[in-house]
Amino acid sequence: MPWLVLRIVAQAAATFLASTLIFDVVHVLLHAGDRAEGRLGRGLARLHDAHHDFLGSDLQVRDERWRANVVFQHLPEAGSVVVGTLALARLVHPVALVLATTAQVAMLVRRLASRGRDWHHRPLTRVLRPWSGWFVGRDYHALHHLHPGHFQGSALTLVDRVRGTSLPLGGRTAVVTGADTSLGAALTSRLEAGGAHVLRLDLPRDLALVGAGAADEALARADLLVLAHPVAALADQDLAVALVERHRALRRAALVVPEVWAVLPPDAGSGWRRVLRGLFHERTLTVRLLLALPGDAPARAARRLVAQAGRGARVLVSGERAAGLAEIVRLALRRDVETAGAWVHRRSLSAFVDPARPVPCRASA
Ligand SMILES: [Zn+2]
Ligand SMILES: [Zn+2]
Repeated sequence: MPWLVLRIVAQAAATFLASTLIFDVVHVLLHAGDRAEGRLGRGLARLHDAHHDFLGSDLQVRDERWRANVVFQHLPEAGSVVVGTLALARLVHPVALVLATTAQVAMLVRRLASRGRDWHHRPLTRVLRPWSGWFVGRDYHALHHLHPGHFQGSALTLVDRVRGTSLPLGGRTAVVTGADTSLGAALTSRLEAGGAHVLRLDLPRDLALVGAGAADEALARADLLVLAHPVAALADQDLAVALVERHRALRRAALVVPEVWAVLPPDAGSGWRRVLRGLFHERTLTVRLLLALPGDAPARAARRLVAQAGRGARVLVSGERAAGLAEIVRLALRRDVETAGAWVHRRSLSAFVDPARPVPCRASA
């Protein structure tokens, strides 16, 4: 009996999630309609505009648009999800079907009762790193309202992982350190090809100089900080952390938390790994680790790394695949110990890094 209950609950959850994929496909088509030649496509896309008008790209709710939002978004969404559920009727236990449908109807009722202000559609002043890579939460969906061509999944991120629509680059600004290294140059070209405006940053050579110069203008504008300079020396690692913390401090008022890409060479020392592991789990930063393993030319490596970020990955691997998987497993297994170590390291570093003071670097477009 307990197994039957478990099976029914698991089937209900799976049915619910699978049925939301139907609407995700519709949602993708509605946004594709923006670029369509025909009047039908553009007309359908305009219906979906009612939803993006309700919660605009400033992440503020316009309550006066709630009726259009319900009629053109929530009713069709609920309808497509219920149709998706019924299509699975033969595959699942009848009780699971009832549970999944009840959950969908309850969600619709809640949306109607709150006039569209459900958990995903409330005013937001700060978008944190999404808590999950696979499930859509409030922050992930807020990113869709900021970048309507991206982050289009409604309950699962699957549609964005498949389509590579998890990394908007157009109109965003990136700061790259080590842009003169082979991988740094290739990443810079790749980001520019994707539509990002890239600023190259020359690092100072001495941590003691932190606070004496100005790259603040670049960091204050940057959505993305790419750390591609060599990090074999402890001083280079400390400078990297100083830049990360300065970037975070300068972007404290930005709508979305800053993003940091850190190139992790195969010979990176354990201290640097510890620091990155600590930053990786924070939600006021989106950190991606770039494992540049031997086996790929820089241009190919950069293409693979950026493509993986587009599919939502946060540990990006270029080079020989088996070695990359082994490295990911190794990083994952050592997580807790290294997170604690990173905290200690960053505490000691904070004596040097005053977030109120600028970092001395030269920036060039
Ligand atoms: Zn929405
Ligand atoms: Zn949309």
